[in-house]
Amino acid sequence: MRWSQTFIPTLKETPAEAEILSHRLLLRAGLIRKLAGGLYTFLPMGLRALHKVETIVREEMDRAGALEILMPALQPPEIWKASGRYETAKDVLFKARDKTRREWVLGPTHEEVVTQLVSGEINSYRQLPINLYHIQTKFRDEIRPRFGLMRAREFIMKDAYSFDVTEESAVESYQKMYEAYVRIFRRCGLDALPVEADSGVMGGNHSHEFMVPAEVGENDIVYNADKSYAANVDKAVSALKSPHSPGDAATLPAVERFPTPGVRTIEELTKPPWNVPARQQIKSLLYRVASRLVLLLLTGADRLNEAKLAGVLGTAEFRPAEPEEIRETLEADPGSLGGVGVDQLEIIADHLLKNGQGLTTGANENDWHVRNVCIERDIKVTRWEDLRTVGAGEPCPVTGTPLEMRPAIEVGHIFKLGTKYSESLNAFILNDQGQQQPAIMGCYGIGVTRTLQAIIEQNHDEQGIRWPVSVAPFTVCITALDATPRCPSLELAETLYRQLTERQIETILDDRDERPGVKFNDSELVGFPLRLAIGPRSLKRGIVEFKPRDGELREVKPEAVLETVVSWIAERQAAAI
Ligand code: ATP
Ligand code: MG
Repeated sequence: MRWSQTFIPTLKETPAEAEILSHRLLLRAGLIRKLAGGLYTFLPMGLRALHKVETIVREEMDRAGALEILMPALQPPEIWKASGRYETAKDVLFKARDKTRREWVLGPTHEEVVTQLVSGEINSYRQLPINLYHIQTKFRDEIRPRFGLMRAREFIMKDAYSFDVTEESAVESYQKMYEAYVRIFRRCGLDALPVEADSGVMGGNHSHEFMVPAEVGENDIVYNADKSYAANVDKAVSALKSPHSPGDAATLPAVERFPTPGVRTIEELTKPPWNVPARQQIKSLLYRVASRLVLLLLTGADRLNEAKLAGVLGTAEFRPAEPEEIRETLEADPGSLGGVGVDQLEIIADHLLKNGQGLTTGANENDWHVRNVCIERDIKVTRWEDLRTVGAGEPCPVTGTPLEMRPAIEVGHIFKLGTKYSESLNAFILNDQGQQQPAIMGCYGIGVTRTLQAIIEQNHDEQGIRWPVSVAPFTVCITALDATPRCPSLELAETLYRQLTERQIETILDDRDERPGVKFNDSELVGFPLRLAIGPRSLKRGIVEFKPRDGELREVKPEAVLETVVSWIAERQAAAI
């Protein structure tokens, strides 16, 4: 490809619309352009890189035995009603109407479609296991599309769906995808950590997210030093234990009310004249869960994790109670609530409060608290559960060493689904006992466009992108510093271009009539892994400048260029696998 004949609209200025670096680079390097919020056009260089990522994904899915299909983006709402997600996912569903006013759904994901397909085509255990995938456009009505391709309204996903007859083979299918994902991200030059993920109301331990640590990440992940334990913060636990041991309640002082005028927060109570450490306080939160109210108790130092709460309650349909509901139920305002003497409500307490003694909590009367609370004696706890968000520095549940916490970008998610969709959409299979049973499903997603941007987020410097060879739009950029037609620099550049191209090395020849500075800046901004520069001065010395994007400049004789490039690429590729 000749630079003069393609379309790479690089920008010198930083576009105001982009908040994060990778988004700025996508725009500045001329890879994408915005149509509207969360909607982007891929330009030639962006599309080439995207195709590279897709090819890696496809090769690894095929290697793992998954079969590529292509399902429609436009879907009938009936299947969404059948699965129940027409309601539960209504906030992200884009809907459209045709000219007869019939409604359609623009697919945010494809469990419904693939399950309906399998339900019609597969009916015997002999036809399983099967794993079907496609790489296709998804639509999601995100509350806040932002960060370019990271959170878009329309994006490309690879989604695979496995169908098995037995639990055992379902786990095997899951494991195969796990391994494929490790390979995919490694081949993309991405340092993506598989972390245990929240499997939501499904429960179980078969959900992993592939996370790219980055300041701009929208999720927090928690891991130990050797990464033998890594989990999404919504799933993470620590070895932190309740500091209390079971005491003899009878010998402990009785609960005592004391005035706390104006005090509404844990923080205020940690200060003089009260000086109650946050861990010695009980945080009491009233939640509305469907038609009932539930009182949640944590230590004053802890934060409620709502994803864990969803798992505990078995539903994600809950919210903090409104101030009026709170007043009606507990006769006080938020900040003065407590569980002592409450017997009309379900009370769920966090494990760290276990055996708690000498605790302080709200008295269910504004401006009053109670102290000397012995939780086992004074509060009717219905259930003990893990409700808290772990903190950095707490001991790892596996090794006991301090946990680190960092923001990360979710590039992939694998998930054992069970039979939710096969039951609701009728994907029943005749098993080897001659009985009908729902297929056991797994689903496996990769945000292909998000992955592309994550690669840039992890591979750049001041000058621009530093593409890994595996996903670069072109591997080599030949920069002709004098591009006058038929001048010796351009002639040599053309010769090398022909040689490299004949060897299937993807090469772009910068033949533009531009100053050397402009050409160098552009090739670094777009980020080609290797640059070969040829100009009158180097020609006179009989050399070509060989400059890896991330390495030192070398001088190579023109006749040695081809072999040097070939072996440099081979080395890079070997290191990447
Ligand atoms: P998130 O938590 O970031 O909203 P999700 O958990 O809803 O993502 P999944 O349904 O698991 O996403 O989709 C699989 C993959 O698709 C994600 O791992 C992510 O890489 C990608 N993805 C999801 N939403 C978007 C989006 N709005 N824009 C770009 N990629 C996305
Ligand atoms: Mg996810």
